[in-house]
Amino acid sequence: MKYVTFSLGGDPAPRIGVLDGDEVVDIKARVGRAWPGRFPETLLELIQAGPDTWRRMASLIGVELSRTPASADGRHTLEETRWHAPIPRPRKNIVCLGLNYMSHVLETSAPLNREAKTPNVPIFFTKAVTTVSGPRDPIPWDRSATEQLDYEAELGVVLGVNGKNIPRARSLEHVFGYTVLNDVSARDVQHRHKQWFKGKSLDGFCPMGPCIVTADAFGDPQRKRISLRVNGETRQDASTGDMIFPVDVIIETLSRGMTLEAGDIIATGTPEGVGLGRTPPTYLDDGDVVETEIEGIGTLRNQVAAI
Ligand code: MG
Repeated sequence: MKYVTFSLGGDPAPRIGVLDGDEVVDIKARVGRAWPGRFPETLLELIQAGPDTWRRMASLIGVELSRTPASADGRHTLEETRWHAPIPRPRKNIVCLGLNYMSHVLETSAPLNREAKTPNVPIFFTKAVTTVSGPRDPIPWDRSATEQLDYEAELGVVLGVNGKNIPRARSLEHVFGYTVLNDVSARDVQHRHKQWFKGKSLDGFCPMGPCIVTADAFGDPQRKRISLRVNGETRQDASTGDMIFPVDVIIETLSRGMTLEAGDIIATGTPEGVGLGRTPPTYLDDGDVVETEIEGIGTLRNQVAAI
């Protein structure tokens, strides 16, 4: 199942949809009447309701979409919908991994004058919830805050089941699904303040989407192609299999002594090809179009807009 959060021109309130071919289906319009009790109004609410509810929802939607003849109720073309981030306002900061692909460790060691060695534990930092934006939204470039705007294609993991001290073998059972993130970074701010939080947390610095693919439909998170293009030129192209710490190890490590909750989002790090790692460093410019893609999920398309 591919879940999206979308709105329509005449009604800006976000609603939950599923992708069916080239169309978005408003699930409340289609299965709301058959739903026992209160229908989840947001994707976050659905996620927090737990696996039994996800299965019931998937089953009802499956029946509804397989009806013949197909109904046009609640169906919308991509053109008539505005896509929001699947979770437009997460409840907590997004947990991010730094230096989780060796190729990225190597490309940034010289410009940062840092030893090129494999981290022996995951490096965690966070992005503010106010960074989150939609899969087609502009990336605001506040020139008063940064001169070095950079991109990072990343696989996003959306937790679905609360847990603490989760063993590696059970980790993926806690995942609701996967999404695409661009961990937009202000390199000058990131380095000036030593801790990465500020340089990663400017407004609009986390385009997300276009959908959340449920874990059962996505399959092995370590076997997906991840890529990023700037104005059509490929800058990043790798496999999620190259992660130093795979998703199950990340969850095991992060949950040690610390409760993870349904709706938490983890950004799993970026492979090589960022602007900082180029010779000379090449940062984003006003008007640049950044496309971030992960096999099996889809593509974010965000244009830099100087403000
Ligand atoms: Mg990153």
